[in-house]
Amino acid sequence: MEKFRRFYKIGILCAIAASVVVLFMFFADDGAETQFVTYSQFAIMAESGDVARVVLSDGPVVQFYVHNSDIAYETSNPRNPALKENLLLMGIYVTEHNGLSASGLMSGVFSIAIIGGMFFLIIRMIGRSGGKGAMALNVAAADANGVNVGFDHVAGNDEAKEGVQDVVDFIKNPEKYAKYGARMPRGVIFYGPPGTGKTLMAKAIAGEAGVPFFAVSGSDFVQMYVGVGASRVRELFKKARAAGRAVIFIDEIDAVGKTRSGSVQGGNDERDQTLNALLTEMSGFGSGEGIVVIAATNRLDTLDEALLRPGRFDRQVEIGLPDLNGRKSILETHRKNKPLADNINLEELARQTVYFSGAMLENLLNEAAIQAAKSGAGKIGQKEIDTAYYTIIAGSEKKDRSRIKEQERRITAYHEGGHALAAKLLSPENTVPKITIIPSTKGAAGFCVNVPPDKMYFTKTELENQVITLLAGRAAEEAVFGAENITTGASNDIQRANHIIREYVTKFGMSETAGLAELSEDEKRREHHGLMKSLYGRALELVARHRHTLDKIAEALLDKESLCEKELDELIA
Ligand code: ADP
Ligand code: MG
Ligand code: ZN
Repeated sequence: MEKFRRFYKIGILCAIAASVVVLFMFFADDGAETQFVTYSQFAIMAESGDVARVVLSDGPVVQFYVHNSDIAYETSNPRNPALKENLLLMGIYVTEHNGLSASGLMSGVFSIAIIGGMFFLIIRMIGRSGGKGAMALNVAAADANGVNVGFDHVAGNDEAKEGVQDVVDFIKNPEKYAKYGARMPRGVIFYGPPGTGKTLMAKAIAGEAGVPFFAVSGSDFVQMYVGVGASRVRELFKKARAAGRAVIFIDEIDAVGKTRSGSVQGGNDERDQTLNALLTEMSGFGSGEGIVVIAATNRLDTLDEALLRPGRFDRQVEIGLPDLNGRKSILETHRKNKPLADNINLEELARQTVYFSGAMLENLLNEAAIQAAKSGAGKIGQKEIDTAYYTIIAGSEKKDRSRIKEQERRITAYHEGGHALAAKLLSPENTVPKITIIPSTKGAAGFCVNVPPDKMYFTKTELENQVITLLAGRAAEEAVFGAENITTGASNDIQRANHIIREYVTKFGMSETAGLAELSEDEKRREHHGLMKSLYGRALELVARHRHTLDKIAEALLDKESLCEKELDELIA
């Protein structure tokens, strides 16, 4: 006991030292101006072409820069090996930063000292107390929570709910299934983009079945020394067994279960041991035990096949981004405790939030509620919702707009109007949920959100139309203000258009003169140049032919600053 108390003290000292290091790391990075955004926000920014450069690293954050701005942004590092390729395909410039900076080195040294200390402690404690003390401490995070979430709290996701209905029944009555010799899934994998409610759904299963919920993250398992992860796994399952029936939830299972052949260094012992321990534990349940392991991942295809074999995670349930109805019911779920103004139409809002995840929708209403609370508006109105929408899509609005000259506003209005006009006329199947000339703090003068439908492939004409739509911003500037007054505002559009054209010529073999033939660099350049010119010509032509409508859109933007799809449709009709 005396000894234990001493270790306890050392433990506390370590904890204090660790906090100091964490604080140090926190402030050490504060020198440069950086701004943190959520990963989903980053995804939207990347997709809408705002991101100019990304600096990948091994660390917990990824840094990136947007066009025409020096501010460094940071977002969580998803540690997804496919990220780099995806970014490159979007035409974003990617660099890697794996060297240690001075502060990185400092904290590295500190961490090693502390980890060393802790490791020493762990070894000692395992030695003395038969493995109990230290391990129990480590899985404290996995203590079961009382669950008060049920399927009612999960809006939309109907297929997924249906797909796990029998799992709930199994946890409640394992004997029923055992009697018939039915082999129920011991493991279920939820896969889909972040924020779509995977964690929520797992919790709801535990809630519906009325059993404790043990949640851990895969990354908790693979941290320090070989063997620690494996014993954490065993400890976790022991706890769950002690509870009788339970749901064990492992978030970010990829941290443990990434394809082994995929790793460059030819294997990672710690991870393999952890994975093996997990598989062993899972095959160890009797069929009468009401324990189910639910794991979540963003990508199924990166997982080791061993995990997906029968008797392991043999049920895979996709949890995707919500469709229109899903979005509407998620909004309805989250508005329940919020005083919305009577004129707010959630169906309309659902229409404007294509590609939003459940978490983003929740965030949207929450952000709007904060706005309303700040201004004491009494109710959450359209203004608050617009501001929140903007914040989620583009970061916060630039507050001081007094210095933006009227002429700049006019150019922006025509530029964004040109995009909207072209999108509406050329690609009626696209959604244009939002167009605005409110500048963001990130340096964008305005933007026009233009979402193509979710498709397996695009036709030649569709690609051409995409390029014309991208170029229509510049074309509108030129048509209205003259060729000598075109602005830098189109740089990102041009970059994206070029990216599409490059693929059009070299990857998809769509250009008429070149066809499927292999081209020399020179020929490619000529072909590329010619196409760009002719498509820009078509953009100019479109803008000129519909000048009257363009004027109407620009006027409306100058008047209201933002337009939604309905308003845009009315102007064009
Ligand atoms: P994931 O685990 O897929 O990343 P989460 O379950 O953590 O997503 O979702 C984060 C939050 O987003 C939830 O706590 C909830 O507020 C909201 N949310 C996500 N999907 C839904 C949904 N289908 N219904 C209601 N709320 C949702
Ligand atoms: Mg989650
Ligand atoms: Zn543009």
